[in-house]
Amino acid sequence: YTQSKSLIYSTYGTPSEVLNLHTHSISPPHGSLVTLRTLAAPLNPADINQIQGTYPSKPTFSTALGTSQPAAVPGNEAVFEVQAVGSSVKTVKQGDWVVPARTGLGTWRTHLQIDEDQVMRVERQGLQPAHAATVTVNPLTAWRMLTDFVHLEPGRDWFIQNGANSGVGRAALQLGKLWGLKSIAVVRDRPGQEGERLKKELLDLGATRVVSEEESQTGEFASQIKTWMSESGTSGSAVRLALNCVGGKPAVALAKVLAPGGCMVTYGAMSKQPLSLPAGLLIFKNLRFEGFWVSKWGDEHPEDRRKCIGGVLDLVREGKFTMGPTMDVRWDFKTPKEGLVTAVQDTLEGYRKGKGMFVF
Ligand code: NDP
Repeated sequence: YTQSKSLIYSTYGTPSEVLNLHTHSISPPHGSLVTLRTLAAPLNPADINQIQGTYPSKPTFSTALGTSQPAAVPGNEAVFEVQAVGSSVKTVKQGDWVVPARTGLGTWRTHLQIDEDQVMRVERQGLQPAHAATVTVNPLTAWRMLTDFVHLEPGRDWFIQNGANSGVGRAALQLGKLWGLKSIAVVRDRPGQEGERLKKELLDLGATRVVSEEESQTGEFASQIKTWMSESGTSGSAVRLALNCVGGKPAVALAKVLAPGGCMVTYGAMSKQPLSLPAGLLIFKNLRFEGFWVSKWGDEHPEDRRKCIGGVLDLVREGKFTMGPTMDVRWDFKTPKEGLVTAVQDTLEGYRKGKGMFVF
């Protein structure tokens, strides 16, 4: 028997108030069941919104873990090591690494037992747990948004994004560079040295230019971009795609520099501000506004999802792609209140050195 410790919640609310620790034992797997040991599981902004009850996809509350109240386990991403397999399991073996086949698995726990078709094997060679633990959401979101909405011509076209220091943003500027695209990264400014350090880091990762939100909201921004284009040997080019992580004014600033017929893809709303658009952008520039949700895309395109995950992990092994920085949150708290409070709070507020990551 395996002892499993899970974070659980029975009602929506502030994570530090509604999360509890629950221990239960897992019997040896039979049939197509696999028993998994969690190696690493990130704390993504959507996980927190899900616990708060503000996220559109809701978890299943049940008493399957032996809780007195129906409960759900938070967390949507992780990498697990296969600890034991049932007699009819075909796709994985003991010692393999697997990631969730879709979101909603409930990953903030030490062990779990599920059907083999709920996970996907990843080749562990050349990878750290943090690579596999963060491959299914951020890099895939960036990859699809750069390829599925407008055709960007390598060596010519530019894209722009706010929230460029986010996991998705960092993935987008690396993929953009690998694919020969020019990019403008808009970030929240930091005081003094810290701001310069961040700027340099994003330029090194692949951004063509990095600007603060304030700079992107000035009247000179469009002409500034034209100058950058001629400096980069892409005069006459245009910004055809904008990736919006933030909403509010930082999103309007991106829309204003999009070329006629360009497209803004919204995937996050970190500022919690709505997107209010001047009508002229629609009437005279015929901009297109779209949204992207990786969970829905993955459920509808399981084979493309598998290929994309493989593609990103290959780039990691070749040293061409790095996952965003992470900050370890050790899973050794006696009560969930201890380490969780700060880790969780930081997930939504930002200005962090890295994404929170449960390590076991
Ligand atoms: P990370 O946890 O890696 O980073 C969060 C980012 O949000 C940081 O860069 C931070 O900026 C920024 N931020 C926080 N608050 C604000 C604010 N008030 N104004 C501007 N920026 C802010 O995030 P992820 O990359 O995992 O996720 C980013 C967003 O994308 C989230 O909203 C998430 O839910 C969404 N998302 C959506 C997906 C989809 O399929 N639609 C998939 C993946 C993520 P700073 O660097 O300055 O601290």
